[in-house]
Amino acid sequence: MVKNHHFAKSVSDAGWIQVRRFLEYKAACAGKRVVAIPPHYNTNQLRSRCGVYVQKSLLVRTPICPECDLVLDRDHNDALNVLQVGLKLDQHSRAEEKQAEARPSGGT
Ligand SMILES: [Zn+2]
Repeated sequence: MVKNHHFAKSVSDAGWIQVRRFLEYKAACAGKRVVAIPPHYNTNQLRSRCGVYVQKSLLVRTPICPECDLVLDRDHNDALNVLQVGLKLDQHSRAEEKQAEARPSGGT
């Protein structure tokens, strides 16, 4: 569709920005928050029960954890990891907001 690779990436990034804005708008209307998970968390390699990282091929749809024998579809496992990371990041974000509110404003 777009031959210039750099331009294609910009178009792709703009699409994700739009999706995020839409999610944030809808969440705000419902009194909810959107938490973006940074890609470095690599949630698709982490086993949700024991927290062990397991390298696996994309062809393996239902991996078995070598540590705790958990058998779970990779998408379901990834969704659980995203939820856990999102809740942790949201909790951290809320704690920072509380601290900022408690701090006396030192404006000049
Ligand atoms: Zn495990």
